Amino acid sequence: MSVMEIFETMEYGPAPEAAAPGLAWIKEHEPFGLFINNQWMKPASGQYIESINPATGKQLTKVAAANSDDVDAAVAAACTAFETWGKIPGHARARYLYAIARHIQKHSRLLAVLESLDNGKPIRETRDIDIPLVARHFYYYAGWAQLMESQLPDYQPVGVVGQIIPWNFPLLMLAWKIAPALAMGNTVVLKPARYTSLTALKFAEIMQEIGLPPGVVNILTGEASQVGEALVRHPDVNKIAFTGSTDVGRNIRRATAGSGKKISLELGGKSPFIVFDDADLDSVVEGVVDAIWFNQGQVCCAGSRLLVQENIANHLIEKLRVRMEHLRIGNPLDKAVDVGAIVSPGQLKEIQRLVNQGVEEGAVMWQPSWACPTEGYFFPPTLFTNVSPATTIAQVEIFGPVLVSMTFRTPTEAVELANNTRYGLAASVWSDNINLALDIAPKLKAGSVWINCTNLFDASSGFGGYRESGFGREGGKEGLYEYVRPKWETLATPLEELHIAKDSTSSNGSGSVQDQDPESAFQDLAFGSSNGYIATLPAIDRTPKMFIGGKQARPDSGFCRDIYDPEWHVIGQVGEGNRKDIRNAVEAAHAASGWAVGTTHNRAQILYYIAENLSTREDEFARRIVQQTGRPYADAVAEVQTSISRLFSYAAWADKFEGAVHRPPMRGAVLAMPEAIGVMAIACPDEYPLLGFISLVAPAIAMGNTLVVIPSQQSPLSATDCYQVFETSDLPNGVVNIVTGDRDTLSQVLADHDDVDAMWYFGPAEECKNVELASAGNMKRTWVNYGHPRNWLDPIQGEGEEFLRESTQVKNIWIPYGE
Ligand code: NDP
Repeated sequence: MSVMEIFETMEYGPAPEAAAPGLAWIKEHEPFGLFINNQWMKPASGQYIESINPATGKQLTKVAAANSDDVDAAVAAACTAFETWGKIPGHARARYLYAIARHIQKHSRLLAVLESLDNGKPIRETRDIDIPLVARHFYYYAGWAQLMESQLPDYQPVGVVGQIIPWNFPLLMLAWKIAPALAMGNTVVLKPARYTSLTALKFAEIMQEIGLPPGVVNILTGEASQVGEALVRHPDVNKIAFTGSTDVGRNIRRATAGSGKKISLELGGKSPFIVFDDADLDSVVEGVVDAIWFNQGQVCCAGSRLLVQENIANHLIEKLRVRMEHLRIGNPLDKAVDVGAIVSPGQLKEIQRLVNQGVEEGAVMWQPSWACPTEGYFFPPTLFTNVSPATTIAQVEIFGPVLVSMTFRTPTEAVELANNTRYGLAASVWSDNINLALDIAPKLKAGSVWINCTNLFDASSGFGGYRESGFGREGGKEGLYEYVRPKWETLATPLEELHIAKDSTSSNGSGSVQDQDPESAFQDLAFGSSNGYIATLPAIDRTPKMFIGGKQARPDSGFCRDIYDPEWHVIGQVGEGNRKDIRNAVEAAHAASGWAVGTTHNRAQILYYIAENLSTREDEFARRIVQQTGRPYADAVAEVQTSISRLFSYAAWADKFEGAVHRPPMRGAVLAMPEAIGVMAIACPDEYPLLGFISLVAPAIAMGNTLVVIPSQQSPLSATDCYQVFETSDLPNGVVNIVTGDRDTLSQVLADHDDVDAMWYFGPAEECKNVELASAGNMKRTWVNYGHPRNWLDPIQGEGEEFLRESTQVKNIWIPYGE
């Protein structure tokens, strides 16, 4: 092309980055091995799998195909390494992480080229986004390694972590997973996606280069069925961190159910990109390019649903089409290319299938007039209009460069459309009215909300989903908790040791049966005591009903169950709850969702009020505990008093668990706001019938959730006695709903329920497993105790930020500023 022609067309010429250094590195290292214990090992299977360059469809190289024997070897190496790595000072780990960051920067050019060759993404993205963010992650987490002892003194590493990553951001996903894991003292076995292993192998070489102790990082290339599944099921792996499809995430949830493995899942999305009529449309157009054509749309948080205010829709669509005509697709190593290749022929076929389905379903498809390269796996940027919200292309993650657009009229309608998805990973809001944008952001069910920007990421700001986009956060301080456990958790205390010793003097209470052994205390209560204490046993016909929507409701079954004291005397009855009672309770909890948007001050006030009303009935509640458990009166008083103190704690926390303002390297701020999860189900433990109940209910409602609670199955009367306390404490109807009955039957219904967003279960190990298994249906968050009781009286085990974190999910709202 002549200079004159270039002036006339204003076309970019090709500006290719040399592939030679990447290809030379590949040649030098063939045949690739598995990275175990800082050594390159031949795969036990002797098999290798092809790695293809998606831009040409030709083989780049072959990588080793590990199998379960290699997984065993890598996990064993990680276990041995954990013995020392988990114990060395944070400063030492910080030095290693810092060295990794430096070496990533030194090799950044080679890493960028390898990533583009292997994945097909444009070099502009690997060079300017992926690799710099990788380095940033290791620097950021070097800081947390340094600070762990002072900032997380009550936490310990989890142990050996299995990490499974996808192909869309191969090295970046590796960094998101390895950096926090190492910082917190864990060791790692990581499986890259089978299509994109090369940068992980280069990373392994960097581990050797910096002298990371053997076994701290192990990298196994290979197939999901051979490596991924074996890692997930391995008994010595203490945590699985996964990014990928929701279906595989669901399988992992099921496969780890009941094992006690921690899991974090970052899954799919169908994120809305909401444009109000006052937005700057030129910026919006560039935003859309970044939202859906970045990485060919193979981005879990891609803004794949364009929601436009109706009065500007035609104008915006026209501008978008003009811009799409100018997008450049082709050789990913060309620095002037906007859109690279799709990762694999399978993915390309899937995109084409969904696009065909969109057309069949009546949507209008538009693609630019230019043609894609014929070699390799390319798909043109595609725009659908006339899309109905219920159609497949509006609901299913396409994971390709395909945008579907819909219109709305009012902000309320925008929020409804935006939330009309089973996912909840991200959203972006475009408006020049900051009041409107900040009003919309909290209403969106999404882990990240970008205001007048999109697809921004930084190590300081957590990333992760709501709903079926998974749970757990990567990045930020919240990301650290995915890789630690409370220190006390290793001290598995037998249940009987948790109760206060018989000669406890922890409270003198107002009664007179303290210092007695449980049996005689119970006898005194049951029949009147020699020391003048007269028990007032409730009449058997005073059967507490269910507590649903603020009203006492009869059980649907019409049946009651007897409640016994430790001597097997019937001391009362409660309703036998069933599926229908649960359904009504979940409905009532949803109807009370306004609780989450009320002020934190108001929630604190109500918690104080509950505490006040409980304290006026301290003696009555203490007697009830003695009656149900046979424990000494003094212990029971201590339990009531601790419950009151706990209510005070969460009233205090209600307006103090505030999140953070992050300052990523941009002009702007990120608000990290802990939000209520929604409707939560809680199955209470049998130990400490009142304190167990209050310790779980109080943090959950303090954070704005509405609840369906199954009280202790053995001793539910302390919870049912709370009905009147709640009724007289201004607690809005439906915030706490209580269904009594068989804990495990009711838990199963709740764990299966698609309108329940999270479930806590404190009971036998077997049922913990069932709850985790059933939760995979809608990927609800779970928190279970795997049959290990807690000492609810202990302020470290029984209360604190752990409970608040389990009651919330962090939303990161990105607000750039500047003209
Ligand atoms: P997968 O979820 O199948 O793969 C992600 C990772 O998990 C890969 O390392 C894969 O290994 C591994 N894996 C797959 N099955 C199992 C298993 N049963 N146990 C353990 N590990 C497993 O994603 P795909 O690559 O198949 O892509 C399919 C769809 O998933 C995409 O179209 C997209 O919708 C979504 N996706 C979402 C991503 C996200 O960032 N949220 C990323 C990638 C995909 P292997 O590569 O060997 O199969």
